[in-house]
Amino acid sequence: MADEQSPPPAPGNPDPAEVAAAAAHLRAGRLVGMPTETVYGLAANALDPAAVLAVFTAKGRPRFDPLIVHVADAEQAWTVAVPSPRALRLAAAFWPGPLTLILPRRACVPDLVTSGLDTVAVRVPDHPLALALIRAAGVPLAAPSANRFGRISPTTAAHVREQLGDAVAAILDGGPCRIGVESTVLRCDPIPIVLRPGGCTRERIAAVLQEPVALADREARAGSLALSGEAAREAPGLLASHYAPRAPLRLKSAADPWPTDPAIACLAFTGVGTGAGLAGRARTEVLSPTGDLAEAATGLFAALRRLDALQPPEIIAETVPEGDLGEAINDRLRRAAGLG
Ligand code: AMP
Ligand code: MG
Repeated sequence: MADEQSPPPAPGNPDPAEVAAAAAHLRAGRLVGMPTETVYGLAANALDPAAVLAVFTAKGRPRFDPLIVHVADAEQAWTVAVPSPRALRLAAAFWPGPLTLILPRRACVPDLVTSGLDTVAVRVPDHPLALALIRAAGVPLAAPSANRFGRISPTTAAHVREQLGDAVAAILDGGPCRIGVESTVLRCDPIPIVLRPGGCTRERIAAVLQEPVALADREARAGSLALSGEAAREAPGLLASHYAPRAPLRLKSAADPWPTDPAIACLAFTGVGTGAGLAGRARTEVLSPTGDLAEAATGLFAALRRLDALQPPEIIAETVPEGDLGEAINDRLRRAAGLG
């Protein structure tokens, strides 16, 4: 019988018994669905190669795509990675938070985690359940997004259950993710360069470092950085067709008209300023009526999933202004469209 004295903790508040059980699974080499502030992760003991291998297998993820190691604090981060002066400043400014740092790895990190690279990706997630789980497990957790490789990232526990329910021993339900897009992946040295735009904007990173922060993708398009071979492997987010719905997805700018065919699904930013195109239309999702990029990021993947579930012949997605979180949102939309 339920104990009326102690109602279950609200989502996001750690239930010690549930966290302890999930931590025991991790220590035994099993996988756990873990909420973070960005998206849900598929977590494994990062120091256990067999458990890490199970992550790649469950996701269908190619072994050349390295995993992010999640730790509880900076001190634990430096047990897997060697900090640099830039890293120390960024960790102090942004952890816990959606910034992943690429740093030289230490010998305890299995090759499988880094895909054989001599660097490791590390971050401290800003979510009470994730932090409680890492502390209870007592080991760093390798955790890519908890989706099948190349598909839309999960932002609720139900999304994890849908795609990877059979692969996990437990899923901790932390409610919907607050940020909604993955972490920013930053190579700190020799110059700071964003390999994947995400929840921590380049503007904020540059303000802390007091120096410009490049964007690998943009540099690649501009042809000023040869992102081939080793470098492409170093930034596997550059693979096209990531975050893909099943329906073909096409991009439009705010100025382009919406399609007239009512069967086509539409993903709009503000839903205003687009003429008559959206009025009275079914199969439409508006990310932020007020034009708030943070709100748009939070709801982006769930909206894409809802539209995809309608099995439309096509999804038309409107790109957002480029600055701030727009960089991460447009990056995900471009990849969903199969563009690099
Ligand atoms: P996910 O875990 O799905 O959010 O993806 C993690 C991403 O982090 C990878 O796809 C890479 O883009 C990036 N990453 C992880 N480790 C490294 C590394 N050692 N060097 C460069 N990028 C990395
Ligand atoms: Mg992913």
